[in-house]
Amino acid sequence: MSASAADVLAELRRLRSTDVPTHGGHILSYVYDSGQARLDRLAADAAELVRPVNGLDPTVFGSVAAMERDLVPFSAAALGGVDAVGTVTSGGTESCLLAVLAALRASGVDRRRANVVAPTTAHAAFLKATDLFGVELRRVPVDPRTTAVSPAAIAAHIDADTVLVVASAPNYPTGAMDPIDEIGAVAEKHGVPLHVDACLGGFVLAWWPDVLPPWNLAAPGVTSISADFHKYGYSPKGASILLHADRDRHRAGYFATADWPGYPIVNPTLLGSRSAMGTASAWAITRCLGDDGFTALVADIAAARTLLLDAVHGIDGLRVVGDPRGPVFAVAADRDAAVPIDPHRWADEVAARGFTLQAQPRYPQSDHTELAASTHLTVTPVTLTVASELVVAMHDAATAARGLPTASAADALRELGAAFASGAVSVADALALDSATTEAVLVSAGIDPHTDPAEASDALDIGAVIAAIDVLPRPVAAKMLAEFLAAFTNP
Ligand SMILES: *Cc1c(COP(=O)(O)O)cnc(C)c1O
Repeated sequence: MSASAADVLAELRRLRSTDVPTHGGHILSYVYDSGQARLDRLAADAAELVRPVNGLDPTVFGSVAAMERDLVPFSAAALGGVDAVGTVTSGGTESCLLAVLAALRASGVDRRRANVVAPTTAHAAFLKATDLFGVELRRVPVDPRTTAVSPAAIAAHIDADTVLVVASAPNYPTGAMDPIDEIGAVAEKHGVPLHVDACLGGFVLAWWPDVLPPWNLAAPGVTSISADFHKYGYSPKGASILLHADRDRHRAGYFATADWPGYPIVNPTLLGSRSAMGTASAWAITRCLGDDGFTALVADIAAARTLLLDAVHGIDGLRVVGDPRGPVFAVAADRDAAVPIDPHRWADEVAARGFTLQAQPRYPQSDHTELAASTHLTVTPVTLTVASELVVAMHDAATAARGLPTASAADALRELGAAFASGAVSVADALALDSATTEAVLVSAGIDPHTDPAEASDALDIGAVIAAIDVLPRPVAAKMLAEFLAAFTNP
């Protein structure tokens, strides 16, 4: 079977038309729209120029080395560490993985004993890192109301085998800034490195219009920082940076070997052969924007954010979670209101009015406090162009959602949840289920992976997914989510 290039592209265009619109500001997560078509074109042109290149070997493809030599000091200046060294990676997760790996190697602690200390609100990339590298993750509960972590609580989790402390500036779920300077002081006192995860907000906070508490490499005790070009650097997916204050810690993240019969291997990142397209688009956009360009875009983000926060403050029944400082925030039910509004019902109603917000489940912490179910909003420069329309949608949605009960899980799922709660089924039993049985459970819970992917945005009931996470033990929910996605992407 073969098809003409024109037919293949027509087919892809048809598939793309079924995606949620990536531009125009109607989806407030996943995509980061500068609102400037010229930047998208620039990124595409830059990526096209390096498309055939292999980023594996910058000594052969000098363009890759030259672009990194520009991106490292640009980012270092933005992130408070003029003399920092670092590496361009494929994304935030890879930057976080490498931060943990470098800290683990540099510490000399046996990985069977090693631990990483991070607030509950740290990105799941640190769950992934510690899982992959076989080290313990100690998750520090945050204040359930403000979602702020206390430096004393961080200190209480550190011991002689702690290889890294992680803090966020800001965190993804609620946009709160961890108190980086105080955590830095704690880390320094214990002689432990501190990684600031600024993957999300680094390239926003750097040009934020208001004075911020210390949050970057300039704060004492901070040893590394990560920031994503493919978020608020407006690059296509595939570009982030990890900076280290210390050269030796940077080198500890490398994998190099001459111990095989082939070419000498030197990998600063987790991949081998790698695309230079992310690096090239990040390089082109940062050079084109410069400080002035970023300052203007961040001003639009800050203005849109103020409009949206004011709207939530003006809605009886909803509250902004904690004290968000950057481009994202979360909205939860205001339990003090006469009629609290369920944030997921509200998100459904906002969606019916043309804007996709992101539902987040409630989260029980290890100290038995609970972070409330919420709805997340990522504000980008383009948000300002639709802000007045969105504010109206937020108000109207609140009126429609006020008084609606929290969406509850399908009967089959509730029964399953009860079976876990009573001990009739154990987590180990559930984790031992084979894929076919797991899928049958999913379907009975109203989450059917065998829908047409091109219709996915209509077919997947995200409310059912959140309900499943809420009702099931978290490891079981994770197994079911993996089964769902595997079945969804297979014929
Ligand atoms: C997005 C994000 C990450 C992970 O980045 P990916 O680019 O999605 O791999 C890590 N930390 C924070 C705070 C993030 O927002």
